[in-house]
Amino acid sequence: ASTAVTYKRVMLKISGEALMGDQGYGLHPPTVQRIAREVQAVHRLGVEICMVIGGGNIFRGLQGSAQGMERTTADYMGMLATVMNALAMQAALESLGIFTRVISAIPMDQVCEPYIRRRAVRHLEKKRVCIFAAGTGNPYFTTDTAATLRANEMACQAIFKGTKVDGVYDKDPRKFDDAKRYETVSYDECLQKHLGVMDASAIALARDNDLPIIVFSLDEPGGFCGILRGEGTYTRVQ
Ligand code: UDP
Repeated sequence: ASTAVTYKRVMLKISGEALMGDQGYGLHPPTVQRIAREVQAVHRLGVEICMVIGGGNIFRGLQGSAQGMERTTADYMGMLATVMNALAMQAALESLGIFTRVISAIPMDQVCEPYIRRRAVRHLEKKRVCIFAAGTGNPYFTTDTAATLRANEMACQAIFKGTKVDGVYDKDPRKFDDAKRYETVSYDECLQKHLGVMDASAIALARDNDLPIIVFSLDEPGGFCGILRGEGTYTRVQ
């Protein structure tokens, strides 16, 4: 799958779990560092990089509310978890010499910057990696939706969704040997068949703004950079 697209600005969305390694919870610093190096490779190409990191490795609103916590409170805790992950990624990127800003949808000035669209755009123009934290700032949303929202606001050409598998399959490739990977798939097919690319509101928001979603494996060393150079396997949702 090689379409020669020249990307100037992209959004990388990863889940919180991508940062926990094999621990089952929280942050695994060597794993954070490994992903930071994947980002570094793309940064070296001169591509402007936005990132959104989930919080599921620390706290998920739905889990909290299933245990009797009020949903909105639990969701705010989930959003705070994403700030911790963003700070960890910032530290890892800066240890590699990449200037990085954490930009939070919920202002916490001592910790990171508040979200101001024009300011974020300026950071990107100066080749600083912008990590958008605290989701959308609203309960009942997910970081997939936050990634789509910010990607639209920042005029990214695509969202790169880094996962454990190298694309979107018709069934779970880890369970079925005959699972088939889509080269491309439409937003509507993802929604209709519940293909699990992102949650429905995120896919709809991408669809309504013609924002392609590139699903690829984060476990493949150099994979992110490879795709930006027109190599590798992935699925393009369009
Ligand atoms: N969250 C929220 N609003 C947002 C983004 C996130 O309330 O705009 C909360 C929600 O509780 C969610 C948690 O933050 O469960 C962590 O985000 P998410 O589940 O998207 O993380 P991921 O699955 O990507 O690790």
